[in-house]
Amino acid sequence: MTTQTQFPATVDVAIIGGGIIGVSTALALARAGVRCALFEKGTLACEQSSRNWGWVRTLGRDLPEVPLALRANQLWSEIQGQVEVGYRRNGLVYLQENEADAADHETWLDKARAHGVQADMLGREATLRLLPGTGRAWTGALYSAADGVAEPQIATQGVAALAREAGALIFERCAVRGVETSAGRVDTVFTERGALRAQAVLVAAGGWSRLFCGNLGVDFPQLKVRGSVLRTEPFDAGISLAINGKDFTCRKRADGGYTVSQFSASLAELVPDSFRLMSKFLRAWIANNSLVRIRFSKRFFEELATPRRFPADRETPYERCRVLDPAPYKRGIDQAWERLLRAFPVFQQARIAQSWGGYIDVTPDAMPVIGPVAQAPGLYLASGFSGHGFGIGPAVGETMAALIQGKQTPVDIQPFRLERYA
Ligand SMILES: Cc1cc2nc3c(=O)[nH]c(=O)nc-3n(C[C@H](O)[C@H](O)[C@H](O)COP(=O)(O)OP(=O)(O)OC[C@H]3O[C@@H](n4cnc5c(N)ncnc54)[C@H](O)[C@@H]3O)c2cc1C
Repeated sequence: MTTQTQFPATVDVAIIGGGIIGVSTALALARAGVRCALFEKGTLACEQSSRNWGWVRTLGRDLPEVPLALRANQLWSEIQGQVEVGYRRNGLVYLQENEADAADHETWLDKARAHGVQADMLGREATLRLLPGTGRAWTGALYSAADGVAEPQIATQGVAALAREAGALIFERCAVRGVETSAGRVDTVFTERGALRAQAVLVAAGGWSRLFCGNLGVDFPQLKVRGSVLRTEPFDAGISLAINGKDFTCRKRADGGYTVSQFSASLAELVPDSFRLMSKFLRAWIANNSLVRIRFSKRFFEELATPRRFPADRETPYERCRVLDPAPYKRGIDQAWERLLRAFPVFQQARIAQSWGGYIDVTPDAMPVIGPVAQAPGLYLASGFSGHGFGIGPAVGETMAALIQGKQTPVDIQPFRLERYA
């Protein structure tokens, strides 16, 4: 029997990246009897998948993502029945400050209901009953009792444990340096521990997917945005559901504290790719200009110094930077905290325990690419989740596994094809 310490000579599928997408795909493949090996340059979930807010939501999704979100809710429940991932359906609410917010939510909900989303528009009184103790005059809310959270610090490891049990091989501190094709198909995967042959290769490399694909001559338009988050010490504010308060977010953690942030705690740092991809991202920058602040930082020079093409027989950028670990944007999280205190004065008694940053990988239309890479048969891409891939991770894994096996995918992946950016 193959053990974790044995490096395989051949697998059916090699997976690059040990975030929630990579491990969920490994789980679905291994359970289908497919021989797969996953390679993670750092440790499992060392980047986005452990740094996120933990929301598992259908609310507010782009409509093509709704089927993935609905399926993911079921899968998270099943996974939670097998291993502790901190998943619970405590409900999720998007608060409204005025009639315009309510109209936006109503428009979205009308369309989302047709896809099976179960949510309600709450009036002022019902919102106050849901959130007693609020210090702000909300006019109403969009509320889903079926949405919830999972715990990013344990979820990916939990899914990985199930994948290992099912036979997947998982290698940490093992960067994939490159992929070689033979007769027009992917054939050999080069890692820092050696080479192996694979019939299919999935790039689930989060914020590194553009660099990885680019080195193979595949253009994947992707940038990174720096998100920032804080958590409190354990504290009972009497709130268990996850809250999007427009200018702050807050959710109860399994450790008894709260995770707090805001959408506009995000920084878009200018890097050489910002200029290369300007025409593709311009519309997104304009649309999100109130949420994402554009900054020039040392990151520009770090990315400028990173080669875009490199061979697989020596150290690569993936080994030189094992973990993207940016500092949090202090002003953004200070503001989120102040706004939370205004909305829920009870938090004045809470103590901040920690803050952290994390790079979010984004695409021009804020939707992921999930599908085959037409110009390199055998190569697949699942990346660019634009700040909302954690919640749908298990459903993306199930979908990728079906696709790679040539089976009917459980959800329509047409909207997520790479070619939409051509
Ligand atoms: C602050 C913040 C808040 C967020 N909040 C939410 C939320 O509430 N809900 C939600 O659904 N989503 C949220 N997200 C987004 C979510 O975290 C991501 O969409 C999701 O985790 C992406 O998973 P992934 O597996 O694609 O990428 P990642 O988790 O980034 O994993 C990719 C992995 O690939 C590895 N890798 C890269 N290159 C190589 C290589 N060459 N060889 C080997 N390994 C490699 C990396 O080390 C990394 O571990 C948030 C993200 C952040 C940062």
